Amino acid sequence: MATNSKLRVLVWSEGTAPKFAYPHDINDAVATALKSDPQLAVRTATFTDDEQGLSEASLAATDVLIWWGHLLHRNVQDVNVERVMKHVRERGMGFVPLHSSHMSKPFTQLIGATGYIGGWKHDAGPEEIKVVMPEHPVARGVSDMVIEDEEMYDEPFEIGTPDAVVFHSTFPDGKQIRSGLAYQIGKGRIFYYRPGHEENPTFYRPDVQRVIRNAVYWAAKRTED
Ligand code: ZN
Repeated sequence: MATNSKLRVLVWSEGTAPKFAYPHDINDAVATALKSDPQLAVRTATFTDDEQGLSEASLAATDVLIWWGHLLHRNVQDVNVERVMKHVRERGMGFVPLHSSHMSKPFTQLIGATGYIGGWKHDAGPEEIKVVMPEHPVARGVSDMVIEDEEMYDEPFEIGTPDAVVFHSTFPDGKQIRSGLAYQIGKGRIFYYRPGHEENPTFYRPDVQRVIRNAVYWAAKRTED
């Protein structure tokens, strides 16, 4: 990939987020934030698009695929999942699954683990996220943060063996979970980022947007100019 070419990002979500929080769904919110970076060429896709937004032509024109899913994990067709995995493993497409996408087919099948969490609690907030690996490129310019209202997850988190754990979250009642996970799978890089429940305005936060943008560059093996 020429370093002066735009980095091509496809942001996929289900179209199931509540309108009060994300009027045009999560893919639009994430894409809008990324579009402020002129080095990125950002498109969106959704479940109801042709081939569930995951056609060969679309993936072939994608350097990094961002994924948000929750209710429709099982409805994503295996042929489309296989196509995503092939592009990650064999071509080196970056993959950035967000929040409840820890249970998505492409993430769990790529890492070879179930993605199960030890427990969850709705509207548990606040989430305190510590940067535990500040030297990692995804942590560039990112400080510890507190998200007032977030869904709570708890360990054990069945996510195989990440190459790096960049963020770690704690919640009220002592619940805690690894919340920023980096993997190399075949030729591809994967970064899982935990925050982003569909009822909370998490994806409008500049610090969260910064993490996602960093993850895009890292997953594309590019550095920000
Ligand atoms: Zn959630």
